[in-house]
Amino acid sequence: MRIVLASGNAGKVVELEHLLAGSGVELVPQTALGVDDADETGLTFVENALIKARHAARITGLPALADDSGICVDALGGAPGLYAARYAGTHGDNAANRAKLLRELAGVPAERRQAYFIAVLVLLRHADDPAPLIAEGRWHGRILEAERGTGGFGYDPLFLPEGHDISAAELEPALKNRLSHRGQALATLKARLPGIA
Ligand code: IMP
Repeated sequence: MRIVLASGNAGKVVELEHLLAGSGVELVPQTALGVDDADETGLTFVENALIKARHAARITGLPALADDSGICVDALGGAPGLYAARYAGTHGDNAANRAKLLRELAGVPAERRQAYFIAVLVLLRHADDPAPLIAEGRWHGRILEAERGTGGFGYDPLFLPEGHDISAAELEPALKNRLSHRGQALATLKARLPGIA
């Protein structure tokens, strides 16, 4: 089964490819098919995932999988939230986004730095599919006071997963995939789609 992945985010592409390895699904990043980024005008993760998947399915004629994800920090009222990728202003500037998060949390003690990653995955069989498969995953932890590790992507160097004493950027990729919001959401999605799993 050939599915277009409605994302150009290299970190997500790598993780989703690993998570789907051996499942019979061939994931083709939308950039390889000349699909531009959709305007993420939704106010929720699920709306944005639907917008992205529909855009990619419409242009390619293929089933489309989209991931809309972010990180929500309790002490910041849920920010960066939906706007994680453009928190510091420029879409995808991960280093600037992390620096802004550290600035916003300056002086906040460890016990008030709780946060969670969230991922919503949407699979549309075609652009007008009225019954998309939707799955959500959440990964709880807290925001560190300085970056640790060089693996992963995005906010990983600042995220200390609950029950671990190393950052998400220090975890083996396979372990991150098992624990993460994206891994959880994909496991749910696969269970709902026998043809994919
Ligand atoms: P979007 O889903 O493309 O709008 O962007 C999601 C953003 O959330 C990414 O650009 C990252 O900044 C952040 N993010 C999502 N998942 C992860 C993750 O697994 N690790 C680190 N950052 C993530």
